[in-house]
Amino acid sequence: MDIKDVKTQELVKKYNFKFSKSLGQNFLTDGSVLDSIVDGAEVCDEDLVIEIGPGVGTLTAQLLKKAKRVVAIELDEELIPILTEELGDNPNFQLIHKDALKVDFNEIIGEEKSVKLVANLPYYVTTPIIARLLSEGYNFKSLTIMIQKEVAERIDAEPNCKEYGALSIMVQYYCNTKIVRRVPPESFIPRPKVDSIVIRLDRLENPRVDLLNKKLFFEVVRSSFNMRRKTLWNGLKGIGLSKENLEMAFNNANIDMKRRGETLSVEEFAALANEIEKIKN
Ligand code: SAM
Repeated sequence: MDIKDVKTQELVKKYNFKFSKSLGQNFLTDGSVLDSIVDGAEVCDEDLVIEIGPGVGTLTAQLLKKAKRVVAIELDEELIPILTEELGDNPNFQLIHKDALKVDFNEIIGEEKSVKLVANLPYYVTTPIIARLLSEGYNFKSLTIMIQKEVAERIDAEPNCKEYGALSIMVQYYCNTKIVRRVPPESFIPRPKVDSIVIRLDRLENPRVDLLNKKLFFEVVRSSFNMRRKTLWNGLKGIGLSKENLEMAFNNANIDMKRRGETLSVEEFAALANEIEKIKN
């Protein structure tokens, strides 16, 4: 597919569509990026694909060529008649006019076994959408999403680099991550101010580490990164243990108290949080 095959500009003109900045509307016009997203997601005829934010349906039309079914969730009411007119005749297409943050994904997924989420996400809600899709335990095989470059780099980061933080650990607790490709602003109308990345998150069958208390684990992670320049010891003073008990938790987890949060792997954070939990109870 090349740029000429993509109907985005034509559809925007045909329906005299006015872009909404507040809804994060930057539509794809670059066919090679559409190919990378669909190929990157490895969409096949067994898949139910859920798309968040179909826009004028450019990516949706490509997904429909490969998937068993596509369910698209769009918040902007101006886009509903356009999508219905352009794609509504396709029996494998379903459109839901709703906020993706409020949709019951279990209702959409039903008994489907192979479910993939594919989206060029509106950047203003990227992190809450990802957090929701992962933490609420839906039966997704993978999420292949286009997001702001900096956010993708934080998600994909490893310990000891400046991008590594609470977001890296939250996503990597649930998924393996893989950057599919970089995408420049010229691939969209209107052009965003930032570079983008297509990233694929493959959901692990079981979370990466066993936790005694998931809430406490994420609290330990957050506290450790709240004071980035300080040692873990300083960050975790407020976690609810006496100095002696906190020291014991560090010793039992085999972690030096002088280390900084950004040097700990997900496994090490889990060991520390589990020791804190044991001592607390
Ligand atoms: N998929 C299209 C494309 O690639 O050209 C459009 C992507 S555009 C970056 C984001 C889309 O998400 C827009 O259509 C926007 O209206 C929609 N959107 C924004 N916030 C949303 C939300 N909370 N729930 C569902 N859709 C939303």
